[in-house]
Amino acid sequence: MTPFTLPGEPHIHYANGHLQMEDCRLDNLAATHGTPLFVYSKASMLAALAAYQRGFAERKSQICYAMKANSSLAVLQVFAQAGCGFDIVSGGELERALAAGADPAKIIFSGVGKTRQEMRRALAAGIGCFNVESEAEIDVLNAVALAENKVAPISIRVNPNVDPKTHPYISTGLKGNKFGIAHESTLATYQHAASLPGLAVVGIDCHIGSQITQEAPYLDAMDRMLDLVAAIEAAGIPIHHIDFGGGLGIDYQGDTPPSADTLWAKLLTKLDARGFGQRLLMIEPGRSLVGNAGVCLTEVLFMKPGEQKNFCIVDAAMNDLPRPALYQAYHAIVPLEQSKQARADSPVCDVVGPVCESGDWIGHDRPLAVQAGDRLAVLSAGAYCMSMSSNYNSRPRAAEVLVDGSSAHLIRKRDNLADQMRGEQLL
Ligand SMILES: *Cc1c(COP(=O)(O)O)cnc(C)c1O
Repeated sequence: MTPFTLPGEPHIHYANGHLQMEDCRLDNLAATHGTPLFVYSKASMLAALAAYQRGFAERKSQICYAMKANSSLAVLQVFAQAGCGFDIVSGGELERALAAGADPAKIIFSGVGKTRQEMRRALAAGIGCFNVESEAEIDVLNAVALAENKVAPISIRVNPNVDPKTHPYISTGLKGNKFGIAHESTLATYQHAASLPGLAVVGIDCHIGSQITQEAPYLDAMDRMLDLVAAIEAAGIPIHHIDFGGGLGIDYQGDTPPSADTLWAKLLTKLDARGFGQRLLMIEPGRSLVGNAGVCLTEVLFMKPGEQKNFCIVDAAMNDLPRPALYQAYHAIVPLEQSKQARADSPVCDVVGPVCESGDWIGHDRPLAVQAGDRLAVLSAGAYCMSMSSNYNSRPRAAEVLVDGSSAHLIRKRDNLADQMRGEQLL
């Protein structure tokens, strides 16, 4: 068994025997705020953003953080203050983005199932673009905009039919997926949209999947997108912006995705070669901005040795960390005390939560040298954890802390029972 190694995240490291995020000791945060506790590094988020900003230096560009990855208000605020726009997928996300100080003109609205009410509210807020995903949505948005005396700026999400080589549940750009307009129908769909008085065609977009760790799918999707842009413009419909979606992967378990700036150097070479380098370029990264910036701290409740398996039962569970149950995802798990790091002869355990499901596991077959009362950090937990968390088993949703240098801000209190029962009524 290989010993624990921390995925490449410079803002999380051991110092004097204790796991730290930036200049804050994580055991102190766990003691102050309790566990399970999500902790995020502001510097890590801004460093991830800076890689994209470097990639786009000297270009017209707009980075729209795909906020479903982590939609906590203070996280959104960090990105809004850094100049990001937001990629939203619901009316609730719209209100969160606005509450966090987003510029509505930098908000783009993705998703296959926008309701009329969500369309009206987004039009009233003056968002920058609706990324529409079907013929039917185009007609409904046109009707809603006309009724409101507005013109809805739109981009059409095309499905480039490329395989992003990731988990099937997070592949979105293949023919069999529910997302986007098929490549072959794109031109006709643009012509239809351009004929409608309630819509203004402003762009084109695609998003091929998530946790993509190779360059080739992006380069292929770009070629296919640019073919379409050329065809659409030849038909007399100008395309103001080109949006390449999100999906860049992070290091969970020795994954080696390209860095954002390296990937964009290659994509920009292609854009330039095909004469599109001076367009407004938009992207919608989610996971790659926040994933490695977050950890979930948890306390070992019981060690349960067994005949076939040893279990390490912790106080975090699938309601806090749903990715293993949903996608068989891997999160590295390390002790907060460096002296408790696993050795070659440490017993192998399944790290599991208290929820009454066999799917409630956080890590399989991990060598561990911890005991009840010790604390662990589940790494790479900044994306698609808190935002997917639930109250299943009537467990309170965890608290969240944002670390900034040596200061730590509580950005979300742990749910109390009143929070959990709000809105319910006895007969
Ligand atoms: C989820 C999503 C993203 C972000 O994906 P990541 O893998 O988190 O970067 C971007 N665009 C759309 C349309 C999405 O649904």
